[in-house]
Amino acid sequence: MPTRDELYRWDRQVLWHPFTQMAEYEPLLIERAQGCTLYDIDGRAYIDGVSSLWCNVHGHRHPRLDGALRRQLERVAHTTALGASNPTTVELAKRLIDIAPPGLAHVYFSDDGSTAVEVAIKMAFQYWRQRSERRPEKTCYLALGDAYHGDTIGSVSVGGVDRFTAIFQPLLFEVLRLPSPCLYRLPAGVTRATALGYHLGQLEAVLKEHHRRIAAFVVEPLVQCAAGMVVHPQGYLSGAAELCRRYEVLLIADEVAVGFGRTGKMFACQHEGVTPDFLCLAKGLTGGYLPMAATLTTDEIYRAFLGTHAESKAFFHGHTYCGNPLAAVVALASLDVFAEEGTLEKLPPKIERLAGRLARIAELPLVGDVRQRGLIAGIELVRDKATAEPLGWAEQVGRRVCLHARAEGVLLRPLGNVLVIFPPLAISPEELDRITSAVESGILAIDNRTA
Ligand SMILES: *Cc1c(COP(=O)(O)O)cnc(C)c1O
Repeated sequence: MPTRDELYRWDRQVLWHPFTQMAEYEPLLIERAQGCTLYDIDGRAYIDGVSSLWCNVHGHRHPRLDGALRRQLERVAHTTALGASNPTTVELAKRLIDIAPPGLAHVYFSDDGSTAVEVAIKMAFQYWRQRSERRPEKTCYLALGDAYHGDTIGSVSVGGVDRFTAIFQPLLFEVLRLPSPCLYRLPAGVTRATALGYHLGQLEAVLKEHHRRIAAFVVEPLVQCAAGMVVHPQGYLSGAAELCRRYEVLLIADEVAVGFGRTGKMFACQHEGVTPDFLCLAKGLTGGYLPMAATLTTDEIYRAFLGTHAESKAFFHGHTYCGNPLAAVVALASLDVFAEEGTLEKLPPKIERLAGRLARIAELPLVGDVRQRGLIAGIELVRDKATAEPLGWAEQVGRRVCLHARAEGVLLRPLGNVLVIFPPLAISPEELDRITSAVESGILAIDNRTA
């Protein structure tokens, strides 16, 4: 067994962490967890305020999920899905179709959110080239400003967070970009009341001009999470879906972050009665236990890939661990827990409680905007509340507030100067209060120091 000091040293020297400036990295080693509490190797406890990066759903070490994994281990850990199958993965595919928006009929499994989007992008492209009335000129995509769809080159291409994508620009394919329908810092002449019409108008203008060459519009429904929990105006998703249908552009709904109850319903698309052409799922799919993703699509898309072996119309894409049965069994168990524990039914009072605390936080001096949808919240810290002038990225005010919260036993990870509250759905009202209190006192502490 390595010593504590060795672990700290190796974590800094050997392990290269994602989205982390390693020159400044200070190790935090979480060794175990129970429910919504994480414990580090020194036994310190932290509430998991961001669901271990937006994926944990029912808490850690849930007996139902742990038990399902153990039982699957007694059968098999992995078999290939390439030209073969296993009962657990088949059952999960059917269960996902049963709960998904109507019209989604087929499930393609992959490994993580990036590949769920990558698959949708490639399927859309191939669909236009193989369906009976071919449209091979449809080769570009439409996406929103500050969009985040993952880190593989295809999903980076549709992504719009400059800080992440700029350096890779020469590697990326063509994407038309629309401004994010954000309700904070509105364009001149646009109000909260007119924002929906304005942004749908922008979308329609681009579609009108370019629809002949656009394969698909990629969107994070209701909330652009990595953008800073940017909440879209109500009606944007259904309006966009309608415009896509009218202009024959496929709709890819990236619910990697917002799926599985985060917005208050199982899927965000269900708030606006939308069935996209592709529904991308990952993070919460396995309750936050194992990497697995799913891209759901319609019969219309699926049929364009059917033909004889000689026609080479199959979808030539696949990962070694596609449909892994251990991940599938824990995803099934997670769906069982949703039903047995009434996970979604228990959300409204928690969502309301969070809203009440956010209203108080909104009054604090550093806070420019608070945004919430379901159990997802973003708190944007600004230099000037009146003008919405942003804080500098390098000042790391968001990070400093989170370090303060950590000292109070709440683990958070900000997005620049946007504080994120993204707890497991199983969070208790008391734990939720502890998160919001730590955020509040963190903001006050930093404000006193900067003043
Ligand atoms: C996290 C995320 C992804 C990427 O998922 P990974 O599992 O990290 O590859 C894609 N889209 C959205 C909306 C996400 O939040």
